[in-house]
Amino acid sequence: MKTIRLREGKERSLQRRHPWIFESAIARGGADSGETVRVESHDGKFLAWAAFSPSSKIRARVWSFDEAQRIDAPFFIAACARSIRARARFDVQSDGMRLVHGESDGLPGLIVDRYGDTLVAQFMGSGAERWKDVLADALLAETGLTKLYERSDASSRSLEGLPEATGWLRGEGPTELVLREHDWQLGLNIAEGHKTGFYLDQRDSRKRFADHARRLNFQRVLNCFCYTGGFTVAALSGGAAHVTSIDSSGPALEKAAANVALNGFAPERATFMDADVNASLRQFASEGRTFDAIVLDPPKFAPTVAHAERAARAYKDINRLAFKILEPGGVLFTYSCSGGISADLFHKIVAGAGMDAQVDGFITERMGGAPDHPMTINFPEGEYLKGLVIVRK
Ligand code: SAH
Repeated sequence: MKTIRLREGKERSLQRRHPWIFESAIARGGADSGETVRVESHDGKFLAWAAFSPSSKIRARVWSFDEAQRIDAPFFIAACARSIRARARFDVQSDGMRLVHGESDGLPGLIVDRYGDTLVAQFMGSGAERWKDVLADALLAETGLTKLYERSDASSRSLEGLPEATGWLRGEGPTELVLREHDWQLGLNIAEGHKTGFYLDQRDSRKRFADHARRLNFQRVLNCFCYTGGFTVAALSGGAAHVTSIDSSGPALEKAAANVALNGFAPERATFMDADVNASLRQFASEGRTFDAIVLDPPKFAPTVAHAERAARAYKDINRLAFKILEPGGVLFTYSCSGGISADLFHKIVAGAGMDAQVDGFITERMGGAPDHPMTINFPEGEYLKGLVIVRK
């Protein structure tokens, strides 16, 4: 068994059960990609069993803090079962659900989503990569399914020194699927869509948006960064008269229009714009065009804290413009999915945007990722998605 020894004082985060070991914390030791190492404090005390990543800044990710634990196939089979069974306790009103959410489920570097009878997995860490076959079989055994598609094409794979890998890993089937969520259906493509094909993490927010549309009788809705139209369909399902949806991806917009049709909504209730959100918001402001509900769900502007400053300006810009074109009494659902922007900082950015737009509002709800994208006490980085629901004064 190979060992890595930490520098003095660097054991503290592991003692708090935080599962990452940065390159800079290691005094000596190493191993092959994905190999299990024993992690020790500077004076040789056991701290954790971890998967080694020779080329990543996060040089090792913890599998277990229990010295007696063996990191073998039964360990991964049990971990997959625990993660999947935990979902029975979560309120998920959909047949699309995240079954494994990396660190938060004790399986760093592994993401698994279920869409109906199909699993889609991302093996993002060297450890998950090394145990891929065991994990794939365990996931199928626990769910009783036969089809697993691999989408290991996220940019983080290259930070781990791993090549892209996509395609059927177990079984075979269609890659165009239809998901049932709350009162609606959404088509997605697991081979070509973003992430594993869909943004399951916004499920609860889409529900709340539909609730607001119904209660407040939305007339003119603007869905910015609409992707495949999740919030568009939610608003229409809640009875919104008309939704304008903007995205810069042609294929996403095609799917969004198809999703409006799939749910039986009249095409004249939806307009799609293949455009840049920032430029469109400016254009609406200059034309004096207003909306009584707006969604701002941009891509990750700040993947890490290092990008936070530039990202903060980008978030402030779109929020300021959105406030300007929001009717008094109108509702803004605004989000950041950047790990590098804390909930507190996001609130400050939105406050600054309101100041600049000379608009005040009531924060009526704080939103987060759906519960199957859990945040745990020991891993605060798990809180990546945060949102504010604001009713303009
Ligand atoms: N709200 C969506 C997810 C949004 S993901 C849902 O519920 O499913 C972010 C989207 O922003 C992507 O579809 C991406 O194509 C789009 N995008 C990124 N930059 C953009 C820009 N500058 N203007 C318009 N759309 C953009």
